[in-house]
Amino acid sequence: MNNELSSVIDALPGLVWTALPDGHVDFVNRQWREYTGLSLEDSCQDGWHSAIYPEDLPQFLERLRSCFASGGVFEGEVRMRRFDGEFRWFAVRSNPMTDASGAVVRCSFLNWDIEERKRGEKLLDEDIIERKRALETLQANQHLLDLAQRAARAMAFDWYIQREINTWSQEQEALYGLAPGTFDGTYESWRKLVHPNDWPAIVASLKHAQQTGDISVEYRVVWPDGSIHWLAANGRMFFDDEGRPFRMVGFTADVTRRKSVEEELRRSTAFLTQAQHVSSTGSFWWRVSTTDEITWSEELYRIFEFDRATPITLERIRTRIHPEDLEAFGTTVDLARVTREDFEHHHRLLMPNQSIKYVHVVAQAYRDQNEQLAYIGAVQDVTERRVSEVALDKARSDLAHVARIMSLGALTASIAHEVNQPLSGIITNANTCMRMLDADPPNVDGARETARRTIRDGHRAADVITRLRALFSRKSAAAELVDLNEATREVIALSRSELERNRVIPRTEFAADLPLVTGDRVQLQQVILNLLRNGSDAMSSINDRPRELLFITEVEEDDFVRLSVKDAGTGFEPQAADRLFQPFNSTKDGGMGMGLSVSRSIIESHRGRLWAALNDGPGVTFSFSIPSVG
Ligand code: ADP
Repeated sequence: MNNELSSVIDALPGLVWTALPDGHVDFVNRQWREYTGLSLEDSCQDGWHSAIYPEDLPQFLERLRSCFASGGVFEGEVRMRRFDGEFRWFAVRSNPMTDASGAVVRCSFLNWDIEERKRGEKLLDEDIIERKRALETLQANQHLLDLAQRAARAMAFDWYIQREINTWSQEQEALYGLAPGTFDGTYESWRKLVHPNDWPAIVASLKHAQQTGDISVEYRVVWPDGSIHWLAANGRMFFDDEGRPFRMVGFTADVTRRKSVEEELRRSTAFLTQAQHVSSTGSFWWRVSTTDEITWSEELYRIFEFDRATPITLERIRTRIHPEDLEAFGTTVDLARVTREDFEHHHRLLMPNQSIKYVHVVAQAYRDQNEQLAYIGAVQDVTERRVSEVALDKARSDLAHVARIMSLGALTASIAHEVNQPLSGIITNANTCMRMLDADPPNVDGARETARRTIRDGHRAADVITRLRALFSRKSAAAELVDLNEATREVIALSRSELERNRVIPRTEFAADLPLVTGDRVQLQQVILNLLRNGSDAMSSINDRPRELLFITEVEEDDFVRLSVKDAGTGFEPQAADRLFQPFNSTKDGGMGMGLSVSRSIIESHRGRLWAALNDGPGVTFSFSIPSVG
């Protein structure tokens, strides 16, 4: 190759090389040498292989071979190693040289750098991929938006505030009851759709959004047909560089159904609260298993006089329970946890001002949705009822008291009347007698006579007393058949609230097949009531043992039946035993001391006996025995 040609080839903007059909390189130009850093010697034979990107080499050699075989035309791209190790893309073109017979004897090649173009292509590819991705994201977002709208039954809004661009979809228009395509997107038209009363709420919420960016408002809209619908809008306000709001995006949903349910709920809650208030009944909800979580109704807070801010705990409830009822309360709670059964309970509350309230608790066990034990219950303030019951009891016993005094008064009047005559006779006779004895000489016969009359009048007075007693006894002796078990049961039932108030537990041990007795049922019951009251009174100061009052009936020999009332009270001094039955003997404030005396005469009028005996343990047993029928 002459020098001139060689320098032209060297000046070509590409790597020029020639190869023989066996793939051996026998020429490289200057660019080749400079680019690859390989001399002709380095490049000949297979030396040039090292200038080809290893992964491209096998295919490149293969194509080279077929190029020779098929007439020497080669067109392709290959990465080539620069002297410093960097690979760049090259396009390769061949120019075959043939002999006279037309066979390819050598090929010259030109490789030119297409790296920049490749990069551009790649960027273009990346750009396309990028754009495709953005499109996909957009589509996905649109899809998500659709789903969100459907899930929330809400429509997205997007409002460019400054420009008043507010295009609505048909669905959005539907929220306002508008026909498709009829909303013009202006602020003013929108304002006209909103219920005038709710406009201030919207203004307030937009003001708020200017501070925080959050939009949250519920308002009514009036549809063209006049119907009213509730919409809830939630979204975000965006601001431009100068801090002016320029765009609002968010969701609007029709919440009419929810609103009416809420309204209904509010109404029924108000109704319930009112009902609870009127009946002084609070309700509670106690989740036993997990956290002892307790929820209270308004009224319950009021009954307990707790403020609503502090959470309700069992501990806090305990601070209000009357100290004497704490143990029973604890037992009820513990039992509820274990038995998981409905419970009912009476206890007292001791309020901060030392007043006492009576409450009645009824609770039902149920399983909540997690299968956990919970109680739902009602607490009624029964103080007023208790107070009126107490008042009633007091009135009843006052009445009994008055009745006794009246019968005593009647007795006294008749005693006075009946005894007065013989007494004045006695006084007159005694005076006459004194005068006769003082005479000079004394009129002894006259005095004897008047003394005899005095004795006669004395007897007459004693007779009057006897007759009065007989009268009293006769009055009580209305004869009917009485079942003592039944009569006693009735007295206990009548006294139930009195016993409960005094925390006395009545028990009975009744003889089965107790024979009937003859007598005045009411009077016998008066005796039993009297014994019951005395027993209950005797236990009022007892706190270290149960206040148990035991009623026993039994059959005695000689056709008598016996009723005993056994208490666990204070008892009495043995030497006081005789005095108990004397009239006007009482150790109680306000006691009259007539009960046992009257009782004894009633029992005696029934041909029976009434007596008292100290128990082996604490307390007394009062018993009477009367003849039975047959
Ligand atoms: P009062 O009811 O006015 O006390 P009672 O005749 O019923 O009159 O009783 C007279 C007294 O007998 C009582 O004040 C009390 O001291 C005593 N007493 C009666 N029953 C009992 C009893 N179960 N235990 C102890 N003392 C009793």
